[in-house]
Amino acid sequence: MGVKACLCGSCSFGNKADECIKCGRPFAKIPAQLCGNCGFGNKETECVKCGAPFASTQAFLCDNCGFGNKANECVKCGNPA
Ligand SMILES: [Zn+2]
Ligand SMILES: [Zn+2]
Ligand SMILES: [Zn+2]
Repeated sequence: MGVKACLCGSCSFGNKADECIKCGRPFAKIPAQLCGNCGFGNKETECVKCGAPFASTQAFLCDNCGFGNKANECVKCGNPA
């Protein structure tokens, strides 16, 4: 059960919301996830890039970084989300 990984307003500004949060490639479309541990409590709303609170924009992975099982891995620690 993954928790959605979010970006803050600053890290998702303009086109940045469509950039892969791992490698920065544009047009990333695969929703990034956090494991139950990394997304626990308030951490669910922390920006996965800079750690700012109250992040609410879905973060994405590119086809490469989210290929196969990688789409189901926590983007922070790599455990199954
Ligand atoms: Zn990528
Ligand atoms: Zn941020
Ligand atoms: Zn994790």
